[in-house]
This record gives sequence, C-alpha cells and structure tokens, in this order.
Amino acid sequence: MNNSSMIERSLRHVWHPCTQMKRHESQPPAPIAKAEGVWLYDFEGRRYLDGISSWWVNLFGHGHPHIKSALRDQLEQLDHVMLAGFTHAPVVELSERLSALTGLGHAFYGSDGASATEIALKMSAHYWRNAGHPEKSHFVGLAGGYHGETVGALGVTDIALFREAYAPLIRLAATVPSPDARGAQPGESAADVAHRAASGLERWLEQHHAQTAALILEPMIQCAAGMVMYDASYLTQARALCDRYQVHLIVDEIATGFGRSGTMFAHQQADILPDFICLSKGLTGGTLPLSAVLTTDAVYQAFYDDEVARGFLHSHSYTGNPLACRAALATLELFEQSDVLADNAALARTLDQAFAPLTQHPSVRHARRRGMIWAWEIDESFEGATPRPGFASRYAQHAMAQGVVLRPIGNTLYAMPPYALDADTAAHLAQGALAALRATLDVKDETHD
Ligand SMILES: *Cc1c(COP(=O)(O)O)cnc(C)c1O
Repeated sequence: MNNSSMIERSLRHVWHPCTQMKRHESQPPAPIAKAEGVWLYDFEGRRYLDGISSWWVNLFGHGHPHIKSALRDQLEQLDHVMLAGFTHAPVVELSERLSALTGLGHAFYGSDGASATEIALKMSAHYWRNAGHPEKSHFVGLAGGYHGETVGALGVTDIALFREAYAPLIRLAATVPSPDARGAQPGESAADVAHRAASGLERWLEQHHAQTAALILEPMIQCAAGMVMYDASYLTQARALCDRYQVHLIVDEIATGFGRSGTMFAHQQADILPDFICLSKGLTGGTLPLSAVLTTDAVYQAFYDDEVARGFLHSHSYTGNPLACRAALATLELFEQSDVLADNAALARTLDQAFAPLTQHPSVRHARRRGMIWAWEIDESFEGATPRPGFASRYAQHAMAQGVVLRPIGNTLYAMPPYALDADTAAHLAQGALAALRATLDVKDETHD
C-alpha cells in the first residue's frame, strides 16, 4: 500500500467530515498508516508532528503503552454489554472517579461530544419539567460558542457556517456577548471585558429567565471560535447570575478538560460548581469515542420516581462501552502516576521560548496562551502586504510540507499539541510553525503556482 492508492480509494468511497469534498481534487487527505507518540506516519514513512492532537483528543501521545495494555486486558474480559439493565466494573469505577474529580455525583454516558451536549440540554429542560416548570425549556449561550453539530447541539452553536444550511431544522438558542479578552478597549483589562459581558448576561436573564432552562458555555477558552480566551471572573459572575435567576449552568469541557487549560478542568480556575459538565475528546486519551455528562444529586433526584416518564429515557446503543471506559480509566491513571499539570506548566514554558520567534513575527497579533493551548492572529496586511483568501488551507499545506500538522481556524493559527513533547519535538513544532507562516505569507512564492 502506498500513499496515492490509499488517497484514491478514500476519495472513491469515504465522505470526509467538515470537508467540501471537491477541495480534495487539489488538496488530497493525508493518508496515515500508523502513529506513535507525537508523530503520525504516512504509508511511505514520512512523519508529521501532531500539533493539534488529532482534533484536540490526544493527551499523552499516540499508542501510549499504559492505555494500550489496559485496552488489551479489557478486550480479554468484556468487550461490550448494554448499560440499560446491566452494569460493569469500568463504568462503575470511571463514574466514581469522575465524581471525585468534579464534585458532581452522577455520570451519564454518550459516544461523542455532540451527544453529551444533547444529553445536558435534555436533562436540564426535563429537570425543570419535573420540577413543575415546563416553560423553562429555552437555552442561552455565548456569541461564537460551539457545542457540536447534531441538530440539537447546533441550536446552541453560534457558528454560522456550520448552521446556515440547516436553519429550518434548528431551534435557535439566544446568544449573549462573549467575554473575549481581545475586546478590551485601551486601558481595560480582561476582567473589565468579563464584567461587561456578565452585565449583558444579567440584562438578558432579567428578561428571559422564566423561560430559560440553562446557560451553556465553554469555560475559559472558546476553542472552535478561534481559541477565544477570557477571564475566570466571567465564570464566577455567570454562576452567581444563574443562581439568582434559577437557571442551570452547563459547562462544556469537551475541549478544555483534562489539563488542556492548565487546570484539570477549566471551570476550576473560577472555583465554581456547575450543574452539568460535558466531557469527551481527551476523556479516553484520544483512543476511543466516549462522552460523559456529570450532574448534581439535586438534578438526579428530580428524576428519581415511581413514574417511568419522570426518568431520563435517553440512550445510545454503546452507552458506557466497557472498552472506552477502560481507556478513560487508564487515562486518569496517567494523571495519578505523575504531576501532569506541573509537568505541562514546565513544558509550556519551553514551548513559549520555542514559539518566541513566531510570536514576534510582524504579522502576528494577540499572541496568547492558556495551559497547553497557544494562539496567534495572523494579519495578512502587515507591512503593506496584500491579504489573500484561504489563509487556513494554504497554511495547513505548508505546515505539512514542514512535517507538522497545524490547521488554522480562519486567520487564527493555533497549537494544541499532545503533552508528550520534549525539547526536540517542541523545537520541531515551533520551527515548522514559523517556516510554514513565512512560506504562506511569501506572495512571490505563490503567485506562480
Ligand atoms: C469538539 C467539541 C464538541 C463536539 O464534540 P464531537 O465529539 O465532535 O461531537 C462540543 N463542544 C466543544 C467545546 C468541542 O470542542
């Protein structure tokens, strides 16, 4: 098997996600034969550093021996059993551990991030119905928020490109201003912006709380919006407002969870307790699809009844799959075996230094980092240069040529690497990122191709 035959077969029968397939005529998908640590290998032995952790899911590198051996062991014991009417050790242990980590007592499982969003929305509205407030069935989210792409999740996702074609199918939630720290006026701090955004939320809740079940947000970093970062004080204020107006707070930690933001969970930077936490992506260390929604005893108790219809009658065939739960347990064990957050803080300082020449490039605006996420806005009109369309895809191709996987969101270049980098691979990532930027911005290079 070689690269080109794999590409050809893929394009004949595979419909790739989030892709205008015709684009693949000129930019074919990269065929990957194997992965190890921070590297992806193609069928001809060329390797690429996975700078975005394979869509933000990988934590400790590919093929981690501890997760692999846990999965092998689990496969020998129990591959799968339905979770309705049955239970098993991996799901029990995982639920116990997630409860201890978050302070929320009950875990409900799905397979993808979007299904976690669906579960949280349904649970919140059903809670209010069981509590005698069926009118509290609407949701509010932040401008630019992203919570997945199933029809229900799109209702709380404020990214027009993903939503437009399906507008007639969607029950659209309200949006309130994002506390995006880049909105700071001269002399303002990120906390000032957060305060302004919280006032917007307050005005909205004042008017609409009686019909509102929940506020859903991505804590600290709105990743899909382009690594929008904001001050923790927004979460404190949002929690207080949700309490005052009797509205649930759903924190979507699907991208930010498991150390990405610098703390185990991003909302912990504000010392708040949410009503619901959505987890996925890093939950299994990037090995198998699994999502979880954690909630409070109070929510759980509102469903606990003799009447069947007051229960949460939601399910997926693979809810609580033992292999996926075991991968999640092995991932949590890696957090216990070493001080991952402290190690990441040191690694992040190494990367800050490695990225310094990129951060200082004259096209870069709003260089920022939180935890293990770096982002830079690329201003293509720097020093009188002429911006051209398609920065993100042009950059991604140059990055691949440099042996790094980096896929900007619009003009936001970002890195979200696995926690498994060392000094050499950090240098490779940073040098590749800068070389790809120079190549992308070099107009002379490209007007002839
Ligand atoms: C990726 C993501 C989702 C959706 O998860 P899928 O597994 O892709 O359905 C939801 N919310 C956030 C914050 C995400 O980053």
